[in-house]
Amino acid sequence: MIYFDHNATAPLNEAARQAWLEATEKFIGNPSSPHRVGSRADAALEDARSRLAKIIGCHSHEIVWTSGATEANNQVMHHFARTLPSEASVCISAIEHPSVLESATHYFGERVRLIPVSRDGAMDLNWLGDELRRGKTGLVALMATNNVTGVHQPWEQVAQLCQRWEVPYFCDAVQWLGKEPASNLATCDFVSGCAHKVGGPRGVGFLKGRSQGSLKPLLFGGPQEESRRAGTENVAGVLSMVAALESRQGLMTKREARQQMRDGFVKRLMVDLPGVEIVGASQPRLWNTVAALLPEVDCRQRWVVKLDKLGFAVSTGSACSSGKETPSPVLLAMGFTPDQAGRVLRFSSGWETEGKDWESLLTAIKEAARELRALAAA
Ligand code: PLP
Repeated sequence: MIYFDHNATAPLNEAARQAWLEATEKFIGNPSSPHRVGSRADAALEDARSRLAKIIGCHSHEIVWTSGATEANNQVMHHFARTLPSEASVCISAIEHPSVLESATHYFGERVRLIPVSRDGAMDLNWLGDELRRGKTGLVALMATNNVTGVHQPWEQVAQLCQRWEVPYFCDAVQWLGKEPASNLATCDFVSGCAHKVGGPRGVGFLKGRSQGSLKPLLFGGPQEESRRAGTENVAGVLSMVAALESRQGLMTKREARQQMRDGFVKRLMVDLPGVEIVGASQPRLWNTVAALLPEVDCRQRWVVKLDKLGFAVSTGSACSSGKETPSPVLLAMGFTPDQAGRVLRFSSGWETEGKDWESLLTAIKEAARELRALAAA
């Protein structure tokens, strides 16, 4: 199976696997226990906190370990629901992950102001500037880069803009981390991330909060994480996540070569499958992502199934609830019709993906197109 779904979950990398095994065997205690076995686990956790802080460029005491980015994103919304004045609105980009959009809607309802995006998938900075000038905004949420299209968002500019208007800025950096240099992320007041998108295990993540002021807990119980998140920390998961992230920092210089492989694939796809449109093509994007609007008037599920049979794991980038596929809200927010959104396939590569994998994918897409056309004609 050739794996082109790294934006969904990246396979566990070797550094992460080693760190997890070592931590599981070596740090057997509860980090909150006062004896030396517990203290050793606690020290390992604190060391991991400093190492992650170094990657992001923040202070280690700003970092809270969580069960993943969904929890971290919910905690941000929960925190502001409890601290903002009741008349304040929150500006959330229309292409955020459901863990941001749904929790914002849950906590703020009609106080959510959706930041519009262009058909190319970039948020509207002018709109946000006007909104901040009105002086009613209590929080801005804009992801660093989008999971469906890979389109980079102007998060550094938004961080500056928010600083100028003294409005807290939250950046979901899940897809940015491990793929792009991260040291500037500390300019954002709140940052979320998780392990399984960077080659670490599933079910662990973090939230970087602000140093000033305390972060309201989402989970109540013990005083772990300085009472910002109750529950025994996932020591092995955290150590494995940080090892995975560290191992990716040294790869950043190889991004251009990876992007060239991707671009070579796109070029040939456009020739071999006339009518295909690359979503967000005019924007700076992640080097690993291709969201392709396919020309066939066909159900994308069949493409996924067909490609799966041919040995390729790809994604529709759509939401799936109760076994029913619904068009991706990200693509709808970008102005695609439900029919168009239904024809978008996402291919997302990893650091280990090679040029020959992209070539095999192209061959498989052509084969799938032939078979699907034959089926449609029958
Ligand atoms: N934010 C983004 C941009 C994502 O792509 C994802 C995962 O798909 C999440 C948040 C949720 O992360 P987790 O699976 O750790 O809850």
